[in-house]
Amino acid sequence: MRYAVKKSILLPVLIFALIGGAYGVGIHFNAKGNSGVDTPLSTPQNSMVSEPIMPVPTPEPTPSPYLAKLPLVNVFADDYSVELVKGPNQHLVSTECYDDLTQMFEDCRNAGLNPMVCSGYRTQEFQENLFENKVRRVMNEGYGRAEAEEIAAMSVARPGTSEHQTGLAVDIIDADFKVLTEEQEQRPTQKWLLENSWKYGFVLRYPSGKSELTGVIYEPWHYRYVGKEVAKELHERGQCLEEYLGGY
Ligand SMILES: [Zn+2]
Repeated sequence: MRYAVKKSILLPVLIFALIGGAYGVGIHFNAKGNSGVDTPLSTPQNSMVSEPIMPVPTPEPTPSPYLAKLPLVNVFADDYSVELVKGPNQHLVSTECYDDLTQMFEDCRNAGLNPMVCSGYRTQEFQENLFENKVRRVMNEGYGRAEAEEIAAMSVARPGTSEHQTGLAVDIIDADFKVLTEEQEQRPTQKWLLENSWKYGFVLRYPSGKSELTGVIYEPWHYRYVGKEVAKELHERGQCLEEYLGGY
């Protein structure tokens, strides 16, 4: 059964800032493909070296329709549509990632493991509730509203900026360990996913040691579909999406 959803979702203004509109709104691409992520020449400090400094080439990001839907931060409302289908464990996901997701699950299970989707597509309203609940829990610890929102946003995306609202993100856990903690990474299922998910076009979106770049805590369960080409590049470069898209 398929669901057609037309949602108003926030679109990635940061991407426009970073990549000069290379991806445009929706899935339209700038014909020139100018990414605007040229690496500036670094200026040597306290150095007498007068030789020209060769810039380290920064590979251009591969245009991907999936990245055009990437919510990062500070995003605008715009029309956004997603076609949904029931994926593993009855969770709705975008039809764009369904085939690769189900193949990944099949291969993971064939390896004797037990993956489980515990969160897929979310509506704006659902995300609003999640965020509000988190904010209140933080406020109960004695924080004011503004500060509580800042803290909450590190683990629950602000409504309109959650990748789950694109239908391209899934939280995958070991069915024998249904807890969203860093201990997930120790589970055999998660180890398999961490090693193999890129082959299916998925990346662990908020990896260990990248929180300062992503603004989100380490989440060894949140996988984001970016397509196989981009996932392979991210895997080979050891980058998170923020690094890949430029600016870091
Ligand atoms: Zn998630």
